[in-house]
Amino acid sequence: MAQRETTEFRGEEDPLLSVQNLQTAFFTDKETIRAVDGVSFDIRRGETVGIVGESGSGKSVTARSIMGLVDSPGRVLDGSRIDFRGEDLTQKSEREYRGLRGSDIAMVFQDPLTSLNPVYTVGNQIKESLRLHQNMRGAAATEEAINLLEAVGIPDASRRVKEYPHEFSGGMRQRAVIAMALACDPELLICDEPTTALDVTIQAQILELLQDLQDERDLAIMFITHDMGVIAEISDRVNVMYAGEIVESAPVEELFENPRHPYTQGLLKSIPGNQPDAERLQTIEGDVPTPNEPASYCRFEPRCPKAFEDCTQVHPASVEVDAETDDHTAACLLYPEDVSQEEAVELHEQRESQREVSQR
Ligand code: SF4
Repeated sequence: MAQRETTEFRGEEDPLLSVQNLQTAFFTDKETIRAVDGVSFDIRRGETVGIVGESGSGKSVTARSIMGLVDSPGRVLDGSRIDFRGEDLTQKSEREYRGLRGSDIAMVFQDPLTSLNPVYTVGNQIKESLRLHQNMRGAAATEEAINLLEAVGIPDASRRVKEYPHEFSGGMRQRAVIAMALACDPELLICDEPTTALDVTIQAQILELLQDLQDERDLAIMFITHDMGVIAEISDRVNVMYAGEIVESAPVEELFENPRHPYTQGLLKSIPGNQPDAERLQTIEGDVPTPNEPASYCRFEPRCPKAFEDCTQVHPASVEVDAETDDHTAACLLYPEDVSQEEAVELHEQRESQREVSQR
């Protein structure tokens, strides 16, 4: 599997986006669903951070929380922080959020038709973005719309700018949506499964396009997918999500060469072609549970081949996997692996009680 070279990463020290202890819950008469439960990660300019996990792991709710797009009965809970350029977005009014969305932060969804209006030409929709976010109109806006379509690799852009979305193929529509997102000149681009509906050739082209645009514009990209192959291609750093939590985080090469969390190991084994000796494809038995209460145990325990008794009684904190690495964490009681299992469990208990105290 091709992996992205991380050695040329040019990120600056301060993160552009810093998510700390993000908790987003949905409240219904019957239950509370803790869709995102204590998620923390950073993204720097010029960096692509991948968020990977099965459906129901909380990836898309994380993205919608950052965008301020969580609809009732859901909300971001107190104690969550989403710092963008050093300002906490959770304190913004809806009006202030609207100013950020589509300008400093833009989002590309899985289905381009949710972002494109069928009754307006592609060019008019890009020009509307340019008018709203860059105050550009008339011939200058038309010229910029053509430039943007060219930048995303749409051939014969001066003709196609006058066409409607239904006249574009699926891959071309997704390129047009990316052009619309770029019309806002964003600093952070959030991509939620943008290549899932596309065939593999078009998918590879879109991933390459995103990398080229990132290099040209120093964009920070948050890339959500359930596909480990796509994550390997595009990410500098990977966060693996399970049942509302990040269970492992590492630079992309380290994660693929040295996965530590049993869930990540299971995901990698289920990639076709990744286990040449296996007689058939391995899958992780069972489903992602719906997190209804604050976790006091490991949510992966029912599916974990390495589970032991403490896993049903202690919630794993995110810890460095060993003393050698300072950039690879896992939320699993098996780590750090350079201490005894008993000592590791004690460390997790201490970290969890510190976290509970800091949240009071
Ligand atoms: S804490 Fe226990 S159940 Fe959870 S992933 Fe680690 S070994 Fe498996």
